[in-house]
Amino acid sequence: MITFYPGPSKVYPEVPQYVREAYEAGVLSINHRSPEFMEIFRRVRQLVKEKLDVPDSYTVVFSSSATECWEIISQSLVSKKSLHIFNGAFGEKWWRYAQQLVPATESIVFDREELPDIDQILADDADLIAITHNETSNGTALPGDWMQKLRKQFPNALIAADSTSSMAGVALPWEAADIWYASVQKCFGLPAGLAVMVLSPQAIEQTQSLGEKGHYNSLLNIYDQSQRYQTTHTPNVLGIYLLMRTLENRASISEVNTQLTKRFTEWFIMLQNLNYVKLIITNDAVQSKTVVPFQATPEVINQLQEQAKEQGIIIGNGYGELKTTTLRIANFPAITDAEIHQLMNFFANFAPEKLSH
Ligand SMILES: *Cc1c(COP(=O)(O)O)cnc(C)c1O
Repeated sequence: MITFYPGPSKVYPEVPQYVREAYEAGVLSINHRSPEFMEIFRRVRQLVKEKLDVPDSYTVVFSSSATECWEIISQSLVSKKSLHIFNGAFGEKWWRYAQQLVPATESIVFDREELPDIDQILADDADLIAITHNETSNGTALPGDWMQKLRKQFPNALIAADSTSSMAGVALPWEAADIWYASVQKCFGLPAGLAVMVLSPQAIEQTQSLGEKGHYNSLLNIYDQSQRYQTTHTPNVLGIYLLMRTLENRASISEVNTQLTKRFTEWFIMLQNLNYVKLIITNDAVQSKTVVPFQATPEVINQLQEQAKEQGIIIGNGYGELKTTTLRIANFPAITDAEIHQLMNFFANFAPEKLSH
């Protein structure tokens, strides 16, 4: 089976071998306070920075999921309120969780074919602006220049960017946000259960000045422990080990970015020319490069998924309000060019069956 599901998604084929290595080397049973674990932590942090081109001044820590990051951010970085700017289901979910923790939390919803007009955004006394860098539910992304402009307009607020389906797939404008995070089951090509959080010096300062220590996952504790290459609780050691091993074999993010962009362009041209599907997003400026969604009638969607499955191919369902009317194709690094071409061939040869009415 080849899966094009945008999460959980295809894992690197080396994963079983790395799991075996971890087992044989005793990594699965190591103490998380041991020098062996600390060395893995040190190395994985260095690899994330190196391979993803993270600025030196930024810090890498771990949590268990993007969803956990949503809560960590409200708990440990927000004192008055956060402002959430979103156009899809993941951004909305984040806002809902944030509101439970900080009721004054605000939102701005924008159209998925447009970018919010930054001059119209009133952030008042929000101490954090929350954006979804890559909205996995509808295949939109925020361009780097838009993010830089937001950064300039609100120099006093922290900016947090959910980059769950873009980190490790596209080159991120790191300096344009203070908190970036991603679960590893998307562009990192790993099994779920671990998230990478990347923090600016301003984010660390805010954590320290708020001094919030009331939770097992308070960011201040996570950060303090990470300074000693340790964690607040027994972490997903296997996940961290697999992250280290896969990053060791990875190309630089600029190469990965080039490869994914090229494949995205092929998809874009192909989907535009098929008469039985329609792109959801037609404005190039907001197209995600890593998640490509398209619309079709429910009949065509069924036929596509069924016939693909017969050929061992899984195409991703829609998500949220787009669940039944769209399909999504992951363009993630663990998927090979050959697999993408196999799926393209399938689309090229597909002919919807006529339904009798
Ligand atoms: C998948 C996804 C999440 C949720 O990830 P979990 O690991 O389930 O917490 C959050 N945000 C975005 C944008 C996602 O794509």
